[in-house]
Amino acid sequence: MALLISCCDSRVNGLSIFGAAHGDFFVHRNIANLVPPYHTDNHGQATSAVIEYAVTVLKVPRIIVMGHSKCGGVAGCRGMCEGNAGALELHGLRTDIGSGELLAFDGSTKDFVSI
Ligand SMILES: [Zn+2]
Repeated sequence: MALLISCCDSRVNGLSIFGAAHGDFFVHRNIANLVPPYHTDNHGQATSAVIEYAVTVLKVPRIIVMGHSKCGGVAGCRGMCEGNAGALELHGLRTDIGSGELLAFDGSTKDFVSI
């Protein structure tokens, strides 16, 4: 078994690309198959939690980060680095794991705030 981190794009199907069977991979998908740096502030910890579970509980010997051609997420990230982030806005709600408080994303501060 390996941990496979891939893009949410429906054209990306790791099982068929590797000719794998169900159970061969523990799969995590996100936009542009990003693996953000670990933080202790409870922000964006989904990928870190998956990696921790795969390594400590499932004891996977390998982690595969699989990108793909013409990825819109990667193009968006590149656009942000080039100062063209106008088309990218993050929206959403999340629950703070520690307090259970429901938070909303504030586009002006680029952070989650109480609602
Ligand atoms: Zn993609």
